[in-house]
Amino acid sequence: MNWVTRSFRNLLVTTMVGLVALLGVPMFLYVTVAYTQQQVEDRGQILYHLANTAAIAISENLRERSREVELLARSPLYVNANFTSPEFRASLERLQQSYSYYSWIGLTDINGTVQAATGGLLVGQSVAQRPWFQEAKKGVYVGDLHEAKLLAALIPSPSNQSGPIRFIDFAVQVENAQGQPRGVLGVHAHWGWSEDLLNLITPQDASEEHVEFFIVNGNNEVIFPDVPRQNRSLSVPVVNEGDAAHYASWGSQERYLTSAVAVNSPDSTIPLNWKVLVRQPEDKVLAHARGLQRAILAVFGVGLVLFLILAWLLSRQLGRPIQQLTHIAQAIAEGKSAKFDLTLHTAEMRSLNQALQEMATRLLRNQHELEAAARELENKVEKRTQELAEANTKLAAQARNDALTGLPNRLSANEFLAHEFHNMKRGHESYSVVMLDIDHFKKVNDTHGHATGDKVLQHVSRILAQSVRENDFVGRMGGEEFVAVLPLTQLSEALLVAEKIRASVSSAYIEPIGQVSISAGVAVAKPDHASADDAVNQADAMLYEAKRAGRNRVMPNAL
Ligand code: GH3
Ligand code: MG
Ligand code: MG
Repeated sequence: MNWVTRSFRNLLVTTMVGLVALLGVPMFLYVTVAYTQQQVEDRGQILYHLANTAAIAISENLRERSREVELLARSPLYVNANFTSPEFRASLERLQQSYSYYSWIGLTDINGTVQAATGGLLVGQSVAQRPWFQEAKKGVYVGDLHEAKLLAALIPSPSNQSGPIRFIDFAVQVENAQGQPRGVLGVHAHWGWSEDLLNLITPQDASEEHVEFFIVNGNNEVIFPDVPRQNRSLSVPVVNEGDAAHYASWGSQERYLTSAVAVNSPDSTIPLNWKVLVRQPEDKVLAHARGLQRAILAVFGVGLVLFLILAWLLSRQLGRPIQQLTHIAQAIAEGKSAKFDLTLHTAEMRSLNQALQEMATRLLRNQHELEAAARELENKVEKRTQELAEANTKLAAQARNDALTGLPNRLSANEFLAHEFHNMKRGHESYSVVMLDIDHFKKVNDTHGHATGDKVLQHVSRILAQSVRENDFVGRMGGEEFVAVLPLTQLSEALLVAEKIRASVSSAYIEPIGQVSISAGVAVAKPDHASADDAVNQADAMLYEAKRAGRNRVMPNAL
């Protein structure tokens, strides 16, 4: 089947494919463009909320710690106590136990020499150069994350932490009742709390969704997670607070949807400028939209196959009867009888089939009637033609024969003469003409009646016909006058024939009149004659001479 042809099947297939495309393409485009965009925005919002929650939690926790240290420094114990007493030392140990992330708590005198500390660590040593000691003189100090310096060798790293131990320092000046400085209270909290804190607020499916949290400091260095030092400056994208989430490369091939929120600094002599960044790889962000795209492709692919099968079945159902009817119509057109034995499933096709069947039956009946009528007409025409031919033959015979005697008439005689004259002109031997006339025939009529005259004419005619050879011609010229034409015959021979005729006539007995005689004039046709009439006229003249000479005789033209 030619696919270019505008057939029923092509029309159906095109319609089906068009329908699927009409539904599928806009839906696919919607998912590809609008739905994907929406997914990115929604996911950006989620990442922003996660970053915001983390930033608030970190900020609140830092504020809580700094408030705790500040309130402690203002408490009567710190205002009045003897820093070197065992009671004071015990209070520091209790404080450390109250918050598991406090690694070290110590108190210095105004010169920076440690007076008391948890675990007795660094007691008697000077921390005068440490930033927390120097900054605490100006107010409450919350220090940026740093690696342990003096305590590095003294405090073992927590087992879950790789690399050197890192701290955030909280410090505040301790004053006596008169407001005079007595020393500095310093607290080192280890960085493990950040991980525990973020674990608390991280959604359960975060690792499955590849959602990652980062905390960066004011130098854009990663301080969480606890990556090795050389990786700490992995290319953190610059994301300003308040920016919508956007894609960033993070120095790798992959793109990440990234959201950043600044951590509010607690009241401190030096602001922290930390930021929380939350990122998710692009393929994870788009996973849902991509899944939906695949589902749409699958559904519409299967739909297309089903629609094509449907189109094929429909075209078979509807197209086949039309094809069958076409074959039947062709058969009828060729005059064959055809059977309308189709299995039809639709009312329209059934009524079309019935109408065509009736039409075909009527057409065939009309055709048969027409054929019968034509055959009848043909027979009639044939019969009439035959009758006409017979009539013509009869007429032709009548035109050339004399009704009374049955001899050829003057017309035949003229034709025979013309033919012989023509042959002679072509070199044949000459022919002779004998003109004959019954003597005193009027008397026969007058005496015995016309009917008897007729009988005499018939009688003489028979004698004439019997008296010549097969190739000779005898005819009635009219009245009681006759002619004999003798081909290839010279005068002497012609005279013998004329004499034989005359003798036969005169010797015959005719009931009831007895005998009649006949006179004859003979002439020979010559090649120098102008027409056939010349010889006839000469014979006629001789006949006249025979009459004049007494009748019942033969007169040759030579005499
Ligand atoms: P002649 O010896 O001079 O020939 O005399 P004739 O009486 O034979 O000649 P004429 O010409 O005077 O007469 C011929 C007659 O022949 C006249 C006519 O009535 C008769 N006749 C001509 N045709 C027919 C015919 O068909 N039947 C009959 N019964 N008579 C005929
Ligand atoms: Mg006559
Ligand atoms: Mg006569």
